[in-house]
Amino acid sequence: MKDSKQDGIDRLMLPHIRSLDTYQGVIPMDVMADRAGIPPEKVIRLNGNENPYGPSPRVVEALGNFQNYNHYPDPDQTNLREALSGYLGVPADHIVAGNGSDEIIDLLLRMFVGHGENIVIPTPTFGMYAFSTEICGGEAISVERDENFEINVEAVDLAITPKTKGMILASPNNPTGNIASEDQIRALLETGRLVVVDEAYHEFSGQTAMPLLQEYANLVVLRTFSKWAGLAGLRIGLGVMQPELAATMMSMKPPYNVNLAAEIALLASLEDTPTLLERVQNIVAERDRMMGLLRQVKGIKTWPSQANFILCELPGGRGKEIYDRLCNRGIFLRYFGNERLKDHIRASVGLPHETDAVVAALDELVNS
Ligand SMILES: *Cc1c(COP(=O)(O)O)cnc(C)c1O
Repeated sequence: MKDSKQDGIDRLMLPHIRSLDTYQGVIPMDVMADRAGIPPEKVIRLNGNENPYGPSPRVVEALGNFQNYNHYPDPDQTNLREALSGYLGVPADHIVAGNGSDEIIDLLLRMFVGHGENIVIPTPTFGMYAFSTEICGGEAISVERDENFEINVEAVDLAITPKTKGMILASPNNPTGNIASEDQIRALLETGRLVVVDEAYHEFSGQTAMPLLQEYANLVVLRTFSKWAGLAGLRIGLGVMQPELAATMMSMKPPYNVNLAAEIALLASLEDTPTLLERVQNIVAERDRMMGLLRQVKGIKTWPSQANFILCELPGGRGKEIYDRLCNRGIFLRYFGNERLKDHIRASVGLPHETDAVVAALDELVNS
């Protein structure tokens, strides 16, 4: 079917899109089970920082009871923003909901970053920041965190150029688990550039930069319902920012970016926050138990975590091998191919029996 009209269509594509590195998302459970030749119920999947308890039972009930899926969702997000305002303690006009916080990252970067401009990113961190910057034709400038994965504020300052529109950091940081201090965040805000603080794991840490919104117009705080509320599959996240910024983002977003199922799930979750936050506390307790067990395994170094995952450093040169051997046993953790983390592995906190299986397997693989 290839004729001359089809030849070379890819050459019309924007070069920066054609050469994009794909963001590697998590692969579904059944696909993984199939690859490992293991029944899905035997697979331990701790690679996506997902919530092992699932969504609130009220979410499942509300989604089943709702009838009007033939209607479009509200493009102004009126009920959503009102409900979020109550949960977050900020006025509704400061909030924009997105198809996951990933969409808010994408919208923000499209609002600020043009061709040839850049965003400074303390790394290692969440891969979407660089990915979404590059989609805009911008440049992601990585600034290495220090030996404890703390943000090196001076190095960030030095990396800023006249083309720098802002910086993005996660707190707690994924995959290192540590938070950014208020002093560090203030120092970045003082540059006058856009500062995005991604608090995807806020509910596990209890820390937030939200109060700084009253002092700094250049701050945007991101949250998500994917991790603490167990709604990763329904895609709902949000950004909190100055009302002028929020109004612009509302005007440029796809009108129906948050689907009705996600909206219903969010509203039902917010009516069940005590249950969900109790589960968060269980996950935090399990994280601390897992940390204790991992610290007893010879040859593994763990990094302190304020989130729902633990970054482990494995013996030098063995990261990929141990990761592969875990996969063969049906234990899927997160591996990062990059130079700095090549001997690290990130384990999400799951159920107690999963913790025990991961710790036992790691002990066996590292020490035999
Ligand atoms: C998981 C994660 C997200 C993704 O959130 P969604 O709302 O599911 O898009 C954002 N930021 C960080 C740092 C994450 O780890």
